[in-house]
Amino acid sequence: MVNLVRHEVIRSAETVVIKIGTNVLSRPNDSLDIDRLAALSEQIHAFHEHGKQVVVVSSGAVGAGIGLLGLQGRPKDLPHLQAAAAVGQAHLIRLYNDCLSKHGYSAAQLLLTADDFKHRRRYLNVRNTLNTLFEYGTVPVINENDTVSIQEICFTDNDELAAMVSNLVNSPLLVVLTSVDGLYDGDPNDPTSKVISLVESWDDSLLGFASATRTAYGRGGMSAKLQAIKRVTSVGENVILANGTRDGVLDDVLHGHETGTLFLGSGPLMPAWKRWIGFTVNPKGQLFVDDGAYRALCEKGRSLLPIGIQQVAGQFDKGELVSVTNLDGREFARGLSNYTAKEVRTIAGLRTLEATERLGGLPYEEVVHRDNLVVMPNR
Ligand code: GLU
Repeated sequence: MVNLVRHEVIRSAETVVIKIGTNVLSRPNDSLDIDRLAALSEQIHAFHEHGKQVVVVSSGAVGAGIGLLGLQGRPKDLPHLQAAAAVGQAHLIRLYNDCLSKHGYSAAQLLLTADDFKHRRRYLNVRNTLNTLFEYGTVPVINENDTVSIQEICFTDNDELAAMVSNLVNSPLLVVLTSVDGLYDGDPNDPTSKVISLVESWDDSLLGFASATRTAYGRGGMSAKLQAIKRVTSVGENVILANGTRDGVLDDVLHGHETGTLFLGSGPLMPAWKRWIGFTVNPKGQLFVDDGAYRALCEKGRSLLPIGIQQVAGQFDKGELVSVTNLDGREFARGLSNYTAKEVRTIAGLRTLEATERLGGLPYEEVVHRDNLVVMPNR
């Protein structure tokens, strides 16, 4: 039966990001489930037929590599994991290409690290490439570049990668396919627990519903998925979390049928530039501000002036990202600083006139201009 809210969400989504987890694609013997991949590819074709552009974010490389190399379980150390990913990724993308080409599409492989998202130019390059791939009518299939991803530059998991991709292409809908039916209101193994069908607005208490269960080969559990969902709904976009092992799951999404949990975007759509500032780059420092500045930023949409800053932590340059926190250290905003950390330390707490004198000129009245500031009181 068509659900009107779901129908409207999918109707208005020109671009859809579909995240496919390892457990959706793996067979119990650690090989990739080609039948499932074929079925999902057919459904992706249906999205295209309805005028939608699709980006796939797919896990499964490490799992496939484990099977192909005949390993007993997931390796513990990085070089063996990376080797398994290298072997498995080749196989994974070949299967995608085989399945999609039956419907006339090429699979386009993009392997990314978190670093690629943090550098503005690389970030924009990825976006331009994706837009060109859409023009060619191909299906981009993205995975983490596991072979170069060391801790400093890796995503927490592919759920985070999918959320970042979703924000990168301003996708109105992210579909997260996993091996459970959605977000349960209790322990999924308890028969009295039910799948929550609709979450109208994100609330941190939802994190309490995350089951600690970890799956065999994938990295992210339910709490990782919920963090990714929060990242997408916070910018005003929607997410469906559904069971990718159920036949026709993407058809159900496409036709607005009830499946999994729909999380509606909370609040107004955030512009692309602010998504990058608020959810992609890592802050280089912290500005601790007083209550007056907190209210000016959160309630009045103002810029951050030197007078409200009480303390500065970290080292940052002009144009780098800083986190803005209350005096107790609770972060409520992020933005690009017009001044270096040393300069902000010099002018913190001063009125504009005094700050001008102290620095011998004040090119910007604001330390962080509101155009380069993202306020997230519930971060
Ligand atoms: N990049 C990993 C893989 O393809 C998956 C990571 C994850 O599932 O979070 O196996």
